[in-house]
Amino acid sequence: MTIAISHNTQLKAATKPCRFCGTSLRRSFVDLGMSPLCETYPAASDFHRGETYYPLHVFVCEECFLVQLEEYESPDKIFSEYGYFSSYSDSWLNHADTYCEKMVERLSLDRHSFVIEVASNDGYLLQYFAQRGVPVLGIEPAANVAKVAVEKGVSTLVQFFGTQLAKQLAEEGRQADLVVGNNVLAQVPDLNDFVEGLKILLAPQAVLTLEFPHLLRLIERNEFDTIYHEHFSYFSLLTAIRVMETHGLKIFDVEELTTHGGSLRVFANRVEDRTREISPNVQRLIADEKQAGLDTARGYEGFAFQATQTKFDLVEFLLRTAREGKSVAGYGAPGKSATLLHYCGITRDLLPYTVDRSPYKQGRYLPGNHIPIFHPDRIHETKPDYVLILPWNLKDEIMEQLQFIRGWGGRFVVPIPKLSVC
Ligand SMILES: [Zn+2]
Repeated sequence: MTIAISHNTQLKAATKPCRFCGTSLRRSFVDLGMSPLCETYPAASDFHRGETYYPLHVFVCEECFLVQLEEYESPDKIFSEYGYFSSYSDSWLNHADTYCEKMVERLSLDRHSFVIEVASNDGYLLQYFAQRGVPVLGIEPAANVAKVAVEKGVSTLVQFFGTQLAKQLAEEGRQADLVVGNNVLAQVPDLNDFVEGLKILLAPQAVLTLEFPHLLRLIERNEFDTIYHEHFSYFSLLTAIRVMETHGLKIFDVEELTTHGGSLRVFANRVEDRTREISPNVQRLIADEKQAGLDTARGYEGFAFQATQTKFDLVEFLLRTAREGKSVAGYGAPGKSATLLHYCGITRDLLPYTVDRSPYKQGRYLPGNHIPIFHPDRIHETKPDYVLILPWNLKDEIMEQLQFIRGWGGRFVVPIPKLSVC
């Protein structure tokens, strides 16, 4: 089958250069239209102020294959008051606890060790190291989120991370045996400064672990809604290796995780540390990525077409449901819902409300379309015919929690990778 791609993949007007290698960006990956910042949840009193929409047009660098969005808004504005508290997801907490248990054993961490997490959020992860007697330090720029960590007893610096802070900590003798960065690599506009900083934080034989959504799975599973303004970069293992090597770091192992629709956890150390062998997992995954064409421009074609098909399916379903006089409610208000709903042009007439477990979001609204966010009890009260699961990566957990909707014949709708009603 020949796939017709309607939009021009070779744009003449260059945007900013690649944030890693500096090459001009000319190749479009996908253009998802315009949307507001996805982790800003306005209150009704904010409506009169209006909201700024930014283009969600993603490019792929033809030199290093870093898939990237331009930085339209300063991280300061995005992350200083952040609506995302990691501790509201049970499965994410389990993920953190299991990771700590494994790392304590693998690296023999004890009360003489030191663990630093960059973008430590509300202390969701470091609390488990602290419980095992390992000294920790969190670095988190969002003051409201960091405050919760400190209340839990997780020592946290409210600062943006980069070489400047890393040098300061190193000079104070605070290099770490383990540096953790979960879902932060995508969010840094100055990628080179950030990765250089990570290296500075590492003690001579220390280990760095980074988790980030895996571009290979994002493409394979059509996860276009995980693209949003707060995520500036999207990595294959091939590109991650290249970025790390440029800063004197070597990826010696990699694990595939199911989190965020398919993530990678890479393990890296300093290139000069020869105590760790490179695991066969690294070569295996490089081979998978080459098989998918991610080392050439070919691997990045066709994604835009896939996204359009999903848009048509979802809009068609919601229109049909509305015409049949059936009701739909959303579940969850994750960042990705902003991309999905804006790209598909879905407003309150097709999705009257959503619910979320986070008390921070309840009583507020989704950005842009102002779909209200209620407490999950609202589903009980209104008995919708369909529940559209917006954080589809947590669909099993959510469907288990909401089994009661079967009582009135309610069904679940999952939009990605392909619309399914179950
Ligand atoms: Zn590049």
